[in-house]
Amino acid sequence: MTAASRLAALIAVRTISAAPDPAALETLHQRIRDLYPLVADRLEWETVGGGALLLTWRGGAAEPTVLMAHLDVVPVALQRWSADPFEGRIEEGAVIGRGALDDKGAVVAILDAVESLLAEDVVPPGDVHLCFGHDEEVAGSGARTIAALLRERGVRPGLVIDEGGAVVTGMLPGVRGPIAVVGLAEKGVATVRLTARAEGGHASVPPRRSAPGRLAAALLRVERHPQPARTNPVVARMAAALGPRLHPAVRAVVTARAARPLLGPALGRIGGTAGALVRTTVAVTRLSAGTADNVLAAEAGAVLNVRLAPGDRLDQVVERIRRTVRDPDVAVALVDGHEASPVSRADGPAWERMRAAIRAAYPAALLVPYVMVQASDARWFAADCDAVYRFLPFAISAEQLAAIHGPDESIDVAALEAGVTFFRALITAD
Ligand SMILES: [Zn+2]
Repeated sequence: MTAASRLAALIAVRTISAAPDPAALETLHQRIRDLYPLVADRLEWETVGGGALLLTWRGGAAEPTVLMAHLDVVPVALQRWSADPFEGRIEEGAVIGRGALDDKGAVVAILDAVESLLAEDVVPPGDVHLCFGHDEEVAGSGARTIAALLRERGVRPGLVIDEGGAVVTGMLPGVRGPIAVVGLAEKGVATVRLTARAEGGHASVPPRRSAPGRLAAALLRVERHPQPARTNPVVARMAAALGPRLHPAVRAVVTARAARPLLGPALGRIGGTAGALVRTTVAVTRLSAGTADNVLAAEAGAVLNVRLAPGDRLDQVVERIRRTVRDPDVAVALVDGHEASPVSRADGPAWERMRAAIRAAYPAALLVPYVMVQASDARWFAADCDAVYRFLPFAISAEQLAAIHGPDESIDVAALEAGVTFFRALITAD
């Protein structure tokens, strides 16, 4: 059996967390035991929080390592797949199926690495904790519970790795060759609610300013005045790391210390993904108003999905939105949210382990830090460790990246195998 066929076997178990199925999770746990007999036999197994797995491999006296991935996947409803998403078809050098990249590929790469090292009687330099959450895609509590449990036991990890960046080629304009983008931080997430109020009454006598009108004006102001784009410490490191791959003329501009404050605003003007790296983004996601066709809406509401850049604080961002709205009849309220994660270090022994493991699996790839714009389970460890890295050790194409959460999610067999090489090197490096 190969890593690819083991991945296919895990894809076949429908662990869709949006439709929780404890029996499917149990089947997946059992399948992992069957596929990885040495892991089943020699690691300490615990089921946590109703479906997450914590597997502990005892090692030497060095600091513990936490390897994270999640067992659950997103649904496939209303998507057009060219193959059965739960068949795990291996075709033209790739494994196709829901979870191939997000995130059962990582589960398999980690387990294959550990199983093969166990077969060679390798003892890791420090304890290795495999943390497999079961409800990441629904922002559940599996990984958080494991992190709390390890903290309670006094485990202070020297390195934590979870999903995030990957090995990509041609995704940054002007950058040649493959780069391994590793998330040093992830953005915070918050929900902010705007509520406009006005007099209700019969729609035959409308007021000059209705609640929906006030709300619409407020939303336009919010969209026209984005949050400031700034060069945060991660983006500065990203530019420095990219230096060797840039055209000399571009390199001089991007990496010069004097030009650093200009980098954030420049990326902000590009917008899209580049902009999301350097500013807190605000997206209008939901609207509500009115109860009947002929009744004035006394209230109109909008939900803003806010993603906080490192360096921005939640209270400051809400205050900036309030100042932008500038209307006493439109209330701005923070519903819930969390701050951006701390920024992990891009130096020291844990970072050098990452560098060595990436070199072992992808000799041509350049290590480049970045800010992950989505949230991940890794943030639960950020308080206990200054080396939390968000990285999937797989070479992926732009199409494969776009297929995450979409139809025809796939991973190249060669990338999966390189991922095993990565985790073997990461586990054994000291
Ligand atoms: Zn994921």
